[in-house]
Amino acid sequence: MNKDVCIGIIGGGASGTLTAIQLLQKLNVPAQIYLIEKRREATFRGNAYSSQLEYEPLNVQAGRMSLYNTQPDDFFNWLKNNKQVGSEIEITKDSFVSRRWFGDYLTERITEAVKQSPHARLTTVTDEANEINFDAKDENYQLVLKSGRIINADYLIFATGNEAPADVFNPGEIAGLNGHYVSNPWAINPLDRIKSDEDVLVIGTGLTMVDHVVSLQKRGHRGKIFCFSRNGYLPLSHVEIPRHYALPLNKEERSLTGIFSEIRKHVTEDAQKNIPWQNTMDAMRGNMSAMWKLLSMDAKKYFLKRLRNFWEIHRHRMPVVSASIINGLIQDGQLQIFSGTSKGIEVIGHDVLFRFIDKREKQERAVTVQRIINCTGPSGDYYKTGNTLVKNLLAKAWMKQDELKLGIVTGERGEIIKSNGLPLKNAFAIGPLRKATEWETTAIREIRVQAEETAKYISAQIEAAQTILV
Ligand SMILES: Cc1cc2nc3c(=O)[nH]c(=O)nc-3n(C[C@H](O)[C@H](O)[C@H](O)COP(=O)(O)OP(=O)(O)OC[C@H]3O[C@@H](n4cnc5c(N)ncnc54)[C@H](O)[C@@H]3O)c2cc1C
Repeated sequence: MNKDVCIGIIGGGASGTLTAIQLLQKLNVPAQIYLIEKRREATFRGNAYSSQLEYEPLNVQAGRMSLYNTQPDDFFNWLKNNKQVGSEIEITKDSFVSRRWFGDYLTERITEAVKQSPHARLTTVTDEANEINFDAKDENYQLVLKSGRIINADYLIFATGNEAPADVFNPGEIAGLNGHYVSNPWAINPLDRIKSDEDVLVIGTGLTMVDHVVSLQKRGHRGKIFCFSRNGYLPLSHVEIPRHYALPLNKEERSLTGIFSEIRKHVTEDAQKNIPWQNTMDAMRGNMSAMWKLLSMDAKKYFLKRLRNFWEIHRHRMPVVSASIINGLIQDGQLQIFSGTSKGIEVIGHDVLFRFIDKREKQERAVTVQRIINCTGPSGDYYKTGNTLVKNLLAKAWMKQDELKLGIVTGERGEIIKSNGLPLKNAFAIGPLRKATEWETTAIREIRVQAEETAKYISAQIEAAQTILV
């Protein structure tokens, strides 16, 4: 008798959950799916949608956050049915609603998928996958969990998500920082130990900074807040009422100059029709992965070194409400943004002295704070990862860090590519791990397509194998 096919999904965030939903819906043969998530509170939510911050809006409008490509209003309709009653403001497709609500939506959709699945079963496991071996006799993988439990799987889905930010200070400095330092802003309640009159330094000036600074403001923070990054750029703001349309770009364009001049042309043409550049950017989004893939390695390096920061503040924007709170804090003098090069920190009693070369003033300056929060964004340097599983798989050459330190090497279908260039059998990545290949891969809009295509492919493989056996 054939045993049921087993699929092990590592990571229970949006990527892992969405892939499980798609597998539950698509598998036409008996199958067992294991969803392994090391943090109980992150099951069906991951880092982004389990946030406990006071201020944690989605960075994307509700009307663009459906889990399904073919049902674009699914999240909006769910919101109307589940969250509109009792809400002070009317929820529209352009609302930036709570990330926790999105986690509720994911949880409800997977619960339904489990009930409705004709053939597949889902088991959630709260544990950390630390190692994977291949059992040559049974021809399947053995997932070794931190508890010692072993799960056998014929297929592997790596949905381990965003790496925690890399530390900006060296280990000796961090050791001295003791309780002054929040190393991972996506940990549970990262602001809890910060007293309202303490001065805070936030390293990083992107969207994670915005959520943390606005959360401090919502807690009634009275101390000063300094934000620091190399360039000091803040994310730009969304527009109040966006328009949704698609702009085809020349997908054969291989040069950065060509791509940017085409983007500029569209922005100028739209501006003449009173369409803000934010809409033009969103309209071109569907082309970005295809264009990234055509760029030469040199062009990618140039983009990352010279243009990335400029690109990111246009692409990853903050909701209008967040922008107005941040601007208000700057005008009141409570929030100051600095740019330059860090010269390190010194702990003096209860204070921390942060020294840096100010980019604008071109001279050394220092600020004294009591707390530091690391909001530098996900690290792409997997050789420095704190994730034991990824570390082990890199060490045994089953995974390979990409040359640009954006993610791991994956194939066209998300297959994990080993150091020898061959695919790891029946193993796929979903979401942020694919950044090197796809560039645009961290948002729900891309993840939902990857999850659906991977589930379709695996289901077809399984069915084909069973047909041969029959
Ligand atoms: C703060 C924040 C806000 C965002 N807002 C938006 C938004 O508004 N719209 C949008 O489209 N995208 C947004 N994103 C992008 C986000 O990356 C994706 O939407 C999505 O959440 C990524 O999900 P994931 O499952 O790939 O990663 P994660 O959410 O990082 O989940 C990965 C999970 O894997 C678990 N894990 C890792 N290794 C192991 C292991 N070895 N064993 C067991 N478990 C493991 C982790 O504990 C984690 O829970 C946001 C991201 C962040 C960080």
